[in-house]
Amino acid sequence: MKQSIGIDGPAGAGKSTIAKRIAAILQIPYLDTGAMYRGVAVAAKRHGVAFTDEAAIAETVASLDLSVRYSDSGEQHIFVDGEDVTGELRTEEISQGASLVSRVPAVRDRMTELQREVAHAQRVVMDGRDICTNVLPDTPYKFFVTASAEERASRRVKQLKESGQPADYETILHDIIRRDRQDSERAYKPLYCGADTKRIDTTDMTIEEAVEAILSEV
Ligand code: C5P
Repeated sequence: MKQSIGIDGPAGAGKSTIAKRIAAILQIPYLDTGAMYRGVAVAAKRHGVAFTDEAAIAETVASLDLSVRYSDSGEQHIFVDGEDVTGELRTEEISQGASLVSRVPAVRDRMTELQREVAHAQRVVMDGRDICTNVLPDTPYKFFVTASAEERASRRVKQLKESGQPADYETILHDIIRRDRQDSERAYKPLYCGADTKRIDTTDMTIEEAVEAILSEV
């Protein structure tokens, strides 16, 4: 296995922006593993399966055809049963759905297998919740990127407002705290910062500083 870079952390900590920049600088692919769990949630929704129905979710993932492909410009796309569902991944319903379906061991095991296949073929930057603790535990490059829930909510509000969408700080903060709790308290492969993982708190840091902190290690 090549020495890939794993970046974990809670929702909205800036992981994907940081991971994308590092991948561009090192000229290696970036894998957004959250998008894969979001793809499972989209599949469940299409099949009329409740996100909380663990047995039915396990059945859905067993027969699911999910793949990750890259466009010519390097954008990651998620295909479910042969169809590009990338445009459906970023809604609040699917964020919540991904957090719920990711509790199911059959879902996690399947996604882990697909992610390891990618890292087996090439050196990549991968971000998610369990990359350092579960998917790539042997890589020496493990990072946990975090920020306070309030700071993450403020950044999200700013981002939504800049793109002309409505944004209510209290609602967003509530959703972030709920997802943090679900991700770090689930029984199977929860989100946590392992003892051998470098913790980077970006609350008072710029993206560039965080990128620099990681690049100086790799
Ligand atoms: O990173 P993103 O917010 O897109 O992830 C959506 C959800 O997918 C997370 O809240 C988490 O529950 C789940 N996830 C996971 N393990 C990963 C990546 C994402 O459980 N490696």
